[in-house]
Amino acid sequence: MLTGLKSLVRKATSLLASPKAQTYPIIIPRSEHSLSRQNLSPNAVKVLYRLNSAGYDAFLVGGCVRDHLIGMEPKDFDVVTNATPEEVHSIFSNSRLIGRRFKLVHVTFGREIIEVSTFRANSAQDEKAASHNTSLKGKDSARSAHGIVLRDNVYGNIEEDAERRDFTFNALYYNVQDFSIHDYCGGLKDIENKQIRMIGDARQRYQEDPVRMLRAIRFAGKLGFELEADTAAPIKEMAHLLDHIPPARLFDEVLKLLGSGNGIATFALLRQYGLFRYLFPDTEALLQSGWKRDDIDPEAFILQGLKNTDDRIQSGKTTAPYFLYAILLWPSVCLRQEEFQNQSMPSTPALHQAANMVLDNQVASTAIPRRFSTPMREIWDMQYRLPKRYGKRAFLLLEHPRFRAGFDFLLIRELSGTKLDDLGAWWETFQHATENEQRDLIKSIDNRTSEKEGPKKRRPRRRRKSNGKGSQTAQDTSTRDTSNE
Ligand code: ATP
Ligand code: MG
Repeated sequence: MLTGLKSLVRKATSLLASPKAQTYPIIIPRSEHSLSRQNLSPNAVKVLYRLNSAGYDAFLVGGCVRDHLIGMEPKDFDVVTNATPEEVHSIFSNSRLIGRRFKLVHVTFGREIIEVSTFRANSAQDEKAASHNTSLKGKDSARSAHGIVLRDNVYGNIEEDAERRDFTFNALYYNVQDFSIHDYCGGLKDIENKQIRMIGDARQRYQEDPVRMLRAIRFAGKLGFELEADTAAPIKEMAHLLDHIPPARLFDEVLKLLGSGNGIATFALLRQYGLFRYLFPDTEALLQSGWKRDDIDPEAFILQGLKNTDDRIQSGKTTAPYFLYAILLWPSVCLRQEEFQNQSMPSTPALHQAANMVLDNQVASTAIPRRFSTPMREIWDMQYRLPKRYGKRAFLLLEHPRFRAGFDFLLIRELSGTKLDDLGAWWETFQHATENEQRDLIKSIDNRTSEKEGPKKRRPRRRRKSNGKGSQTAQDTSTRDTSNE
């Protein structure tokens, strides 16, 4: 695919005497590109035609055009138009208006959602745009004290819309009326050169929206492209601006960065560009410190966990966000637990206190909704329950709703070098055994390790005053609010 593109781009760029401004857009006719209507979502095509027949301009833009040209399957289809969100909404009965920061319309076809947005101008230039552009239909923008754009609903024309997009390869527009592609910022050439290039002044664009730094890294991890020098240069120095982004938005970005099938590459890039510490401060500090124990090598463990997620996604399986977060925070939980144990706290309450502390610290950076923090605690708890298999325990654990996740987590620990006496293999066999075989398996454990993990003989309880360090269960402690939702 890229070879075909090469000749096309050579042709297009040779037409350009000077590489900027007047000569854009480069319009590539259907005969000279590989994006065919058959590749597109029929629903997206339907939306384009409906908008066109109502008298509006409408294009496909962003990831769906970019990914098709690179030869990848796009994950969603975004439509852009000169109709306002209200006008789009009135055309499609199966649509709803959404968004505060960006107002847009979702057109729903069963499970597929086609996102339709209105051409926007870059609000950094909105004063200029307002005085020059009579086609401007609405103006609504605001900035935080750090220069971050809070609202951005300044409508504009297609040229302005292209300029306010992030990277050149995201400003390619597909026109369904003649099947041509309109390249406004040199995105095709950058695709050919495998370059991620910010449109406009990178420093200013990161200032307006620091999440663009994460998006640059996400595309580098996903596409295997390089960051062009001016796009890369300001990142380390401006990374701290991520501290001013709402934790809920960063939570979503983390899932896209590390939970989309390119986690290993993206994790390395996030660390290389000094961004990871603004997403997972405790984890980064721990990795930097070089802390390790016989039963955990934090970096090896995280890499093994990311590999597991990448493999699952690449083979079409699903992954749970809580599993990914449980992986990324486990080394910190182990370290904190050790600290509590060093203060003479028994291991189980120490684990729960450690989980509280790590989650409390983490939600200041990236939100973790309660529906995710509870299963994370259960997975961690399970690591201490899975070795205890005597009596009815193994049968009960097998019924636990988080058994599968806890078991998968255990396998990742083993694969990353933690010696657990082949516990993973034991559970693998146990799950697939008949009931009689299961009883034998438990007996063999009772015989081998009754000293280590067998039930203790009951001793009469001595009355003792509470020392306030009562042993909470993971469920008890999960009533603490770690949700920023
Ligand atoms: P993918 O959907 O594969 O993750 P995408 O490029 O389509 O990648 P979206 O988040 O769906 O990403 O955004 C759609 C388009 O909106 C982008 O291609 C880009 O043109 C524009 N865009 C998204 N986020 C920003 C941003 N923070 N700043 C500027 N433009 C953006
Ligand atoms: Mg998209």
